[in-house]
Amino acid sequence: MVNLKGQPPGLVNRPAARYVCGTPATFSPCGAPLVNHAWHRMAQSANQNRARTKIIATVGPACREDAQLAGLYEAGVDIFRLNTAHGNQSDHEATIAAIRRTSQRVKMPIGALVDLAGPKIRLGELAGGQVDCRLGATFRFVRGASASRPDELVTTYDRLLDELEEGRSIMLADGTVSMLVEKLSPDAATVRVTQQGSIRSRQGVNLPGARISLPAMSDADRQYAAWAAAQGADFVGLSFVRSPDDVRQLKSLLRSHGSPARVIAKIEKQEALDELEAIVAAADGLMVARGDLGVEIDVARMPVVQKEIVATCNHWQKPVIIATQMLDSMQRSSHPTRAEVTDVANAILDGCDACMLSGETAIGEFPRAAVEMMNRIALATEPLYRRRPLSSAPEVLPEGLREVTQAVVLGAGHMAQKLDARLIVVASHTGATALALAKQRSFIPTVGVSDGDATLRQMTLYWGVTPLAGAPTGDMAALVGYVVEWGRREGTLATGDKIVLVTGTGLAGSGHNAAIVHEVR
Ligand code: PGA
Ligand code: MN
Repeated sequence: MVNLKGQPPGLVNRPAARYVCGTPATFSPCGAPLVNHAWHRMAQSANQNRARTKIIATVGPACREDAQLAGLYEAGVDIFRLNTAHGNQSDHEATIAAIRRTSQRVKMPIGALVDLAGPKIRLGELAGGQVDCRLGATFRFVRGASASRPDELVTTYDRLLDELEEGRSIMLADGTVSMLVEKLSPDAATVRVTQQGSIRSRQGVNLPGARISLPAMSDADRQYAAWAAAQGADFVGLSFVRSPDDVRQLKSLLRSHGSPARVIAKIEKQEALDELEAIVAAADGLMVARGDLGVEIDVARMPVVQKEIVATCNHWQKPVIIATQMLDSMQRSSHPTRAEVTDVANAILDGCDACMLSGETAIGEFPRAAVEMMNRIALATEPLYRRRPLSSAPEVLPEGLREVTQAVVLGAGHMAQKLDARLIVVASHTGATALALAKQRSFIPTVGVSDGDATLRQMTLYWGVTPLAGAPTGDMAALVGYVVEWGRREGTLATGDKIVLVTGTGLAGSGHNAAIVHEVR
């Protein structure tokens, strides 16, 4: 028997006394937090000990069994990512089924994100499978799918030689090896190694600053998109997005297959940064895909670019994910570096909605420890949001949100703060109102309910929102009763606590037009 948090009863580390919201004792007058036990207790969220920042874990050989997925969920994962650049369709199908079984087992919505490889270039088959690239050595990029000599290199991009320019750099194997194009001929590009290392067949190729004529999606991507639609994926990520049109293409492909999946634009090229606003507007969310971004642009610019992307997403009220190398050393070690811990905390303070784990959970030695660590860092960092004013509504009205709703959301946030409410509850058909609440960054947890299972699973990406399945959404009294019962079971709610509900009066076409306060009896 598991409770709603997915933990066996009795194992939940419940604080002896529930904290009182707004206790000034934990803040010095200048706002500096005092680290003490009460501080730690304040980090409790609606679903006890789960961070408000959402955690995405990439599934791979290290965590694809049911028991492993359940363990990662218990440790704090909200969304599992499938990377279609690796594995095959039947592996991924088994993974989706395992994610859905896990969700049923823990009785909580869990999101599934399917990532498409997009116009990513890879090395072809190298002679001997692996090549050492010494500093100053020359190689020749030639046409074809496999190399016949150790000094020849081939890629999956058949127009490479037509589109390269002399003086450009070519980065291989996640930027560990770099080469400079010295001479071009119709049949070969002669390159010199400027940063040495060893490369293997099928590793990634990046051409920083180059415009590549590959389409936004390959045939394989289109097949995977249709497959993701059929599998009921909640989010589909598109790699190497270059323009808002790339996003729109994927959206319409998904809609044509009847999928409501949210499209996540992965930002990993300068071209995308050049059109950032338009891409944010077109997408349902962004991923700061630092693995490739840090190769495609000067890695020294990446931290500032990360902040710009997060700020732009928050302005447009779109979810934003920070990805890659967050706890990289935990692939091989049970403890992260100080720098990694700080990176996760800073991503949260930048204002991201979710942090992602890649190799740490997919192929690492300590997948569960990595998730536990990320959750712990988030719990220790998030209380700083108590000291920040609520984010006010931006001038741009997000898609699907009415002006009245936005105003009510703003009012509900302030009411909840003023009253030291324990929970904000929102019944949301499309999830837009839940997202608007998330973007306020109120430290008061939000519970999202919906009449749509897909909407509930999409809420797994919204900061601070706990999607609650099975709630009656049509009847206010029944909804309150359901949430209160859940909250009491979770230890979140007790007699005298206040809940703020964002709701509608049911008057024709009114949508969400009311915020009401309920006191638990
Ligand atoms: P990937 O995307 O892991 O699919 O390459 C993330 C990144 O590039 O950071
Ligand atoms: Mn990438």
